[in-house]
Amino acid sequence: ESITVQELANRMAARGGEVVKALFRMGVMATLTQSIDADTAELVVNEFGHRVRRVSESDVEQGLEGAVDSDTELLPRPPVVTIMGHVDHGKTSLLDALRKTDVAAREAGGITQHIGAYQVTIPGGQKITFIDTPGHAAFTAMRARGASVTDMVVLVVAADDGVMPQTIEAIHHAKAAGVPLIVAVNKIDKPGVNLDRVRQELLQHEVIVESLGGDTQEIQVSATKGMNLDKLQEAILLQAEVLDLRANPERGAEGTVIESKLDKGRGPVATVLVQKGTLRQGDMVVAGAEWGRVRAMLDDKGRQMKEAGPSLPVEILGLSGVPTAGEPLTFVEDEGKAREISEYRQRRNRDKQAAAAGAARGTLSDMMARIAAGVQKEVAVVVKADVQGSAEALGVTLNKLSRDEVKVRVLHSAVGQITESDIQLAKASNAVVVAFNVRATGQAREMANRDGVEIRYYSIIYEVSDDIEAMVRGKLAPIQ
Ligand code: GDP
Repeated sequence: ESITVQELANRMAARGGEVVKALFRMGVMATLTQSIDADTAELVVNEFGHRVRRVSESDVEQGLEGAVDSDTELLPRPPVVTIMGHVDHGKTSLLDALRKTDVAAREAGGITQHIGAYQVTIPGGQKITFIDTPGHAAFTAMRARGASVTDMVVLVVAADDGVMPQTIEAIHHAKAAGVPLIVAVNKIDKPGVNLDRVRQELLQHEVIVESLGGDTQEIQVSATKGMNLDKLQEAILLQAEVLDLRANPERGAEGTVIESKLDKGRGPVATVLVQKGTLRQGDMVVAGAEWGRVRAMLDDKGRQMKEAGPSLPVEILGLSGVPTAGEPLTFVEDEGKAREISEYRQRRNRDKQAAAAGAARGTLSDMMARIAAGVQKEVAVVVKADVQGSAEALGVTLNKLSRDEVKVRVLHSAVGQITESDIQLAKASNAVVVAFNVRATGQAREMANRDGVEIRYYSIIYEVSDDIEAMVRGKLAPIQ
């Protein structure tokens, strides 16, 4: 439970700066767009002489989170897998090849449709669900919304190319999410591939495969020749056993929106991965800020479904609007409750958008002015560097620049070029992006321009610390 400082100020009809000051007196450094927890907010409200009436998510959404399942109710469920790796290493080819191994698809006439995820039944009868959007952008965007849908990541590394920048990013994203990896060394049909080199490169990024004494499974595959796909599936099922994946199918459904769109003929369409319980045709649900009765459900083979249990992705029709990918779907008993939750979330989304719009207007010079005026108490920084050593050194150096009046907060420090997710993070926290010997992707640059996020490029560490120190003092000259 949290509220942004701006939102709290709005609700008390107080000036944002006054709330920031009140927080500061309580020893809490927060900018207008930052969130504070409910207890802190309550103290502030009392400080302003108001009485607290918490109408919080947990009040409105009470009962949404069902009872805790007992051990006997939890039954094994299929694993949910995301495929990641460097561009052109064969993610799409592998997803296509794995899909073709589905015995259930053959029974269904082999007609498949792309709904954002699919489930294969392997000859032994076990099932595996694959998220059909390769790459870590979707993975991280979902995670940024608090959704964790993936049980494990299959990291595709082309044998002839080895570990590349996006391979490393994928490793970090998977690690940040605490999700285990399985390495699929792809393109082993190519002549002259050097597997040892790939293993050594992975080792340098702390992915230690079994043949080097680690616990990461490594499978050699060829996506285009269909080699060893069964071995990869066995490895996935083995990892699933280790994870002891279970869910209670006998309860109201809970899941996550994987994909959504507005279809001309069918209206809002959302692909939902059911994670707990069973979703049934006719169920009343809330999905993000939308609600509705599930009018129809289709699986990835285009079959009409009456019900969908844990780990099954289904396309659902009947929602009031298009929910965002990564948002939760929950079964609700009655329509009144569904409407109430939906209205509450729409209001909350509007508040958030308003806060974000406010943040976007805050350019660097505004920030300098706020710091100079003593209103802003923090300089937030996202650091991207070309090598790990620099990223770490910058993190340490920048943290040391904190003063009593203004703190420096390094939100994220990593190796690699600047991506949209870095900009998202910076925007959300009013941060400056420091690019050390790295560039921004075209999309990231566009997004930064649009959202008013400042990217500063450097190749010398003391220049970074000089600039950030100047920011801390509220005296940085703008970039020419
Ligand atoms: P993605 O960018 O990771 O999704 O990679 P793609 O699946 O699009 O594959 C990139 C290229 O590598 C395509 O030309 C594929 O045909 C080729 N490719 C993928 N897997 C294999 C493989 O196992 N062997 C060979 N020889 N080529 C492959």
